[in-house]
Amino acid sequence: MTDKLHVVLCRDRHDSSSQQRLFQQLFDGLSGRGDVTVSLLPHLYDLPPDGKAIRHLRSLEGDLVVGCWLYPRAAFWVLDANDIHGRMGASVLVPEEELDDAVSAGSAGPSQRVIWCFDLRRLDDAGPLLAEIDRIAAQHGEVARPAAVAAVAGGNGHVDLDEPVHRRWYPVVDRDRCGNCLDCLNFCLFGVFGVDSEGHVFVESPDACKDGCPACSRICSQGAIMFPDHQNPGIAGDPSVPPGQFNVDLVQLFDAARPQDLAEAERARFTGNPAAEPREGGPQDTPRDDLDGLVDGLDDAPL
Ligand code: SF4
Ligand code: SF4
Repeated sequence: MTDKLHVVLCRDRHDSSSQQRLFQQLFDGLSGRGDVTVSLLPHLYDLPPDGKAIRHLRSLEGDLVVGCWLYPRAAFWVLDANDIHGRMGASVLVPEEELDDAVSAGSAGPSQRVIWCFDLRRLDDAGPLLAEIDRIAAQHGEVARPAAVAAVAGGNGHVDLDEPVHRRWYPVVDRDRCGNCLDCLNFCLFGVFGVDSEGHVFVESPDACKDGCPACSRICSQGAIMFPDHQNPGIAGDPSVPPGQFNVDLVQLFDAARPQDLAEAERARFTGNPAAEPREGGPQDTPRDDLDGLVDGLDDAPL
């Protein structure tokens, strides 16, 4: 384990006054500390894959604390998708059921660095997270500011990597859960998924995904596909929702509809492609208006 601790704070898109206040409290609480480095970034999920913020994150060696507006599991696998690997850190702020011993691995194999991800949406004020950062930093000791940070740090010792971003929408794969069945690869009509040199499925063309469509997350039997921005917690990466839970519930909710049929109907809505219409015996027998209502109701389904 290295003794460097980097704290990364991501801005939210909405920037409400309460979010701004929390962000400022965190920044003020961390500024000037000699034992951590602080980097300020736009919303984690929106970062361009080769933008300066991602390049900066890749340059940071050692353990990482990330505060962002996503479920910690989703944030962890967003980082992994951008070649920022590690093992998920335990925290008193993350309920035990949400820790899934996640380890992400790059080409060099599993990384020993620890990544703690915190969902800022859960905090009313910065105190609990600052206390948790104190606890984590105490395990690391005093550190010199790394060169990568020193080179771009502002006068008060932080790095502000603000860059133009736009709202993105793409699947994120939990590689610990993925069983590599390739169902998502075969299901998606837009070539979003690919297979890497080792035969593992990955998100090859994230921005080819249809905005707002979460269909493949419903057909993944392992619950491995997340859309961190989706309003359904199970799809957005809430680890307390067991894999496949929302598929089972949808079957119960929408009598006789199979998850596959529902996912295909959902995909068809976003593609307008007849090839993506539901299969025989599925909800295509339902009048179009009813199907629309059914698909619209998916997002409101309780988990
Ligand atoms: S459908 Fe799920 S388990 Fe199968 S390859 Fe895709 S992400 Fe992995
Ligand atoms: S949500 Fe739809 S378009 Fe996006 S990757 Fe999944 S199946 Fe493809």
